[in-house]
Amino acid sequence: MKMNFETIIGLEIHIELKTASKMFCTCSTQFGAPPNTNTCPICLGMPGALPKLNQEAVRLALLAGRTLNCEINRVSKFDRKSYFYPDLPKGYQITQFYLPLCQNGYLDVELDNNQETETCTMLKNASRKINTERVEIDRIHLEEDAGKLIHPEDQSITLVDYNRAGVPLIEIVTKPRAISPCTAVNFLKELKLIMEYTEVSDCRMDQGSLRCDVNVSVRKKGDTRLGTKVEIKNLNSFKEIQKALEWEQLRQIELFQSGRSDQIISETRRWDSAKGVTVTMRVKGDSQHYYIAPEADLPSLDLADIGLDFIKKESIPELPMEKRNRFLSQYGLGRYEANILTESKYLADYFEEVIDHGVQPNEAVKWILTEILRIWKNTAQSTAPVDAQRLADLIKIVEQGMISRNIGKEVLYELAATDKTPHAIVEHKGLTQVSDRAEIQSKIQNILTQHQDAVEDYKSGSSKVLGYFMGLIMKTYSGQVDPRIAREILEDVLGKK
Ligand code: ZN
Ligand code: MN
Repeated sequence: MKMNFETIIGLEIHIELKTASKMFCTCSTQFGAPPNTNTCPICLGMPGALPKLNQEAVRLALLAGRTLNCEINRVSKFDRKSYFYPDLPKGYQITQFYLPLCQNGYLDVELDNNQETETCTMLKNASRKINTERVEIDRIHLEEDAGKLIHPEDQSITLVDYNRAGVPLIEIVTKPRAISPCTAVNFLKELKLIMEYTEVSDCRMDQGSLRCDVNVSVRKKGDTRLGTKVEIKNLNSFKEIQKALEWEQLRQIELFQSGRSDQIISETRRWDSAKGVTVTMRVKGDSQHYYIAPEADLPSLDLADIGLDFIKKESIPELPMEKRNRFLSQYGLGRYEANILTESKYLADYFEEVIDHGVQPNEAVKWILTEILRIWKNTAQSTAPVDAQRLADLIKIVEQGMISRNIGKEVLYELAATDKTPHAIVEHKGLTQVSDRAEIQSKIQNILTQHQDAVEDYKSGSSKVLGYFMGLIMKTYSGQVDPRIAREILEDVLGKK
């Protein structure tokens, strides 16, 4: 029954640009500064204060537009979007309404073939066919952020902080298309990664530097007219966005199916994550028209005039999808491994640095994805718990057989806690692995003599005994024996019994 409908989704994403100062003044954009300290007459909208455009914001917006395959308008314009709200000191927002900086772009998103039946994750299995779906971008425009209202829980007052007022934003608007919630979320994830890789934004969703509103409507398949769309706000994570989209599409389909489609009205709904439902916030009706007028205090934005034309030719850093594909072909990684390693540029660079220090890619992946990430999770640090050089040294002495893999893992914990080198730790603790065959053989002889009954079991065909003896041997050596050599000798000695 769901199959007779399609869901049209449009996204509006606001991304704070990673500039040091605001869009039209020199106030700092630093997050978390004491309230109202990063303000001046310009961003507070005092009479007579004139805005001056921050060129770094334009450069970053252009970079975003180019990575998203947009057409760049050499000349674009600023407009005033007037409305009254206490977080907007000027009474209008400076935005680009009529002629945006970038338009008509797209991003191809890689999708799991079985996405409809599974949780919405990026492709993990290399053997599956890769689907790419194109999400079209209508426009990217520059605008300024508003301040922030704070509602203290214990008091019936509202506070306002204008530190965020005037922080540069880009708004990315996608064309409304029939895409699944899963595609929408994967698009957002990829978009976030691209913005991080290109350093257009730090995309901290917890700090509001990436915010997303979604528009959802459903229609019968084959219909060409768009249904009435509902806007959903208050979405703070990708998981919530997906849940909200899935819930809202079902709500609308159900109204359709029960002949109550007139109850789908043009409104803004809020996602209530505790209850897992969308609820009406405000009904738009026909009355909600902003007053838009050209911004008289700013000239047209002509890229040639401000010397930013060259940006169109500047090379773009390697994007996440390119890096993933390179990791697959250059290092022979699996898709799952490549996906995780490229989930942050830092982690991808760290992996390549370990390889540069002479470690095989498949070994580097194993250590990073298991041991390093495990230790890292328990620290509050933004950098890896062990630097690439020392991790590489450790992996190498394990590969050379100087210490066992298990001892290597213990050494890794010590590396994370100190700045000692792996060699120093191994030497200091006397962890070097025993590989003297004659010595191992005599120890094994001893063990077998003490466990004659088990030796008899072995002779009568019980192969389980091998594991039992290996346990005893590893225990005798506290793990400091090469298990491959020990097993070889054990089988040899038992065979002669
Ligand atoms: Zn200011
Ligand atoms: Mn906006």
